[in-house]
Amino acid sequence: MIALSTSTKLEAACLPDQIHQQGVMVVDDSSMHRYSAQLCLNAFGINQVYEAANGQLALDLLAQLEQTPAVMLLDLEMPVMDGIEVLQQLALLPHRPAVVLASSSDEVLISAVATMAEALGITLLGAFRKPVNPNDLADALAKYNAGAGSLAVAHPPVDTDVGQLQLAVERAHIQVYYQPKIDLSTMTVAGVEALARWKTPQGEWIPPSVFIPLAEDHGLICALTLSVLDQVLQDMNNWWEQGQYIPVAINLSAKSLAGFNLANEIIQRVIRQGIPAYFITFEITESALVVDLPSALATISRLRLKGFGISIDDYGTGFSSMQQLSRFPFTELKIDRSFIQGAPAQQYMRNILKSAIELGERLGIMTVAEGVETEAELHLLQSLGCKQAQGFLLARPMPGRELMGWVEQDSQRKHTICQTSLG
Ligand code: C2E
Ligand code: CA
Ligand code: CA
Repeated sequence: MIALSTSTKLEAACLPDQIHQQGVMVVDDSSMHRYSAQLCLNAFGINQVYEAANGQLALDLLAQLEQTPAVMLLDLEMPVMDGIEVLQQLALLPHRPAVVLASSSDEVLISAVATMAEALGITLLGAFRKPVNPNDLADALAKYNAGAGSLAVAHPPVDTDVGQLQLAVERAHIQVYYQPKIDLSTMTVAGVEALARWKTPQGEWIPPSVFIPLAEDHGLICALTLSVLDQVLQDMNNWWEQGQYIPVAINLSAKSLAGFNLANEIIQRVIRQGIPAYFITFEITESALVVDLPSALATISRLRLKGFGISIDDYGTGFSSMQQLSRFPFTELKIDRSFIQGAPAQQYMRNILKSAIELGERLGIMTVAEGVETEAELHLLQSLGCKQAQGFLLARPMPGRELMGWVEQDSQRKHTICQTSLG
């Protein structure tokens, strides 16, 4: 965790007394990293160093100690309980240490977790990529202020209203349809988006624009999301048995991000089904980010940490600033259909579309255009260098059992076009 070197400046004299009196807890699953951190802290004159090999052990140790350590040096990637969950749990404690984050993850993810920690009211002294430079650690510890820290704010309880929608969720009447996303350079299937469909016992189809807000308002959105996820995992297994490894995008509503356990539930279910996380991307609307910043950052960062993709859905319709966006560890920009459909005719829309695609390119993330309905839109997207497209021109949403047939037909059709043009 710490890169020890002979040039390390020893700052023992400058460190606040509380750090010497209360000590530091090092939470890292690597015994090597814990050891190097201990050596470094000892070199700073800190002799009270506690160690824990994962988040759960750290919380257990905190509960046993009479005096809370002044600082926790916290790794993010750990088995049993990761660093993000530790931060969420710390935020609920009346007495908690200040935190220094040290992680091997990329900088965007570390800064997202740092923003989350601060938004939760945790005193964050520093956030670094491993190996941490001892001088940086000394500077972070020197920032410790004994009076810092505040009480956590509890999440309001969710409405537990039940009704027809709850029955539909429980009885799996919410079905999942899949709309293909096409790679614009090869024109082959790049993945599918899972879209919820509700058919009432009377045979009436209710659109998601009606039942998703209903589920959100009545505390059913997490159950609905998990029901969609279960169906997706089952369908993915069926497709895999047929040799088709198709990535799937799943929509996460703003309100489900506030559910503390959603990330855990998702992670457990995906692991249980043996599907690698990088086959699944979660689409989150830009506006979701402003609903509850700490919870959104916690859920998104935990999912990202486990290897899932994260897409900003309906990009361009929200009000997020560049600064806000830079805090989120996204892997994909999904550009809203209003810019695609307006682009061929309107210069202004075309400029926004172009700059969104360029932004994605500069950030090194995937760009997807949604709502493609015409050849003109498709060709414009190709000329602007957009990576993937989705829309009625390419394919309508369809049930999982029809998707394999569609993929098969689509590749045959492309093969025939290819043969014809070669001949
Ligand atoms: P969305 O995430 O933007 O999904 C794309 C919507 O655009 C889908 O509508 C899709 O059928 C529609 N669409 C696709 N291609 C075209 C096109 O070329 N032209 C036009 N006009 N529309 C196109 P859908 O299935 O009615 O879903 C509406 C919204 O409901 C979704 O918008 C999403 O925000 C929400 N939703 C759907 N399923 C779920 C879900 O499982 N969970 C959550 N939280 N939200 C969902
Ligand atoms: Ca979506
Ligand atoms: Ca969308």
